[in-house]
Amino acid sequence: MVFATPVVIGNWKMNGLRADGEARVRQLLDLRRAQPGAGTLGICPPATLLSPIAAILGDGDILLGGQDCSSEAKGARTGDISAPMLQDAGCRLVIVGHSERRLGHGESDGQVRAKAVAAAAAGLVAILCIGETEDQWAAGRTLEVLDRQLEGSLPERATAESLILAYEPVWAIGTGRTPSAEEIARTHNHLRARLEQLIRGGEGLRILYGGSVKAANAGEILAIDHVDGALVGGASLDAAAFWAIYRAGQAA
Ligand code: PEP
Repeated sequence: MVFATPVVIGNWKMNGLRADGEARVRQLLDLRRAQPGAGTLGICPPATLLSPIAAILGDGDILLGGQDCSSEAKGARTGDISAPMLQDAGCRLVIVGHSERRLGHGESDGQVRAKAVAAAAAGLVAILCIGETEDQWAAGRTLEVLDRQLEGSLPERATAESLILAYEPVWAIGTGRTPSAEEIARTHNHLRARLEQLIRGGEGLRILYGGSVKAANAGEILAIDHVDGALVGGASLDAAAFWAIYRAGQAA
């Protein structure tokens, strides 16, 4: 699958019960029907909502994704969900290496890479997240940190069809703060060049920015060179706000 830009993916995190999750998806479908537009739209609800939401989305073009997957296909892993299980529930995407997993659950680059490999084996597209902490950013170490994470967690055989990269500064997630447009441009330029060096076809791989993307700043962020879309947390919990971000990307 080649991803038309803008690629805008919503990460609902641990939010949503069945009634409000289903209502949000129906609202999104209505907005999509009213103004189809180009680009790729996806949502990653909590695991409990995947099957009911898959039934609502049907074969449509809004992609469904999980928020994490195990590196194993099955077995004694209480509480974990495997990539084949996500695929079976109707997913086509899965987020791996989100900073809330890396930092909150101590996931290493190697574990994240194994998850991305497992996702590809199950036919899912991995959305691989990387990002620096505030201290690293303040110390001017952003590119060095991203290089290390990328080299450690990008599968050797990643392709533009099997993986999307998401640059998410940890200090921008859920804080209302973002790097400047110049900083985002410099970082995405750097990531594009690194991808070209690291994997064949790296120039076609989509690179998303994530961290406090809102309707108000989406136009500016999505217009930056090598920003192919956005990974959206908080604002994706409001269908109209999420839709406005996607539409801002159409104009960019
Ligand atoms: C995220 O958690 O992936 C994210 C980008 O969150 P927010 O948009 O709320 O900063």
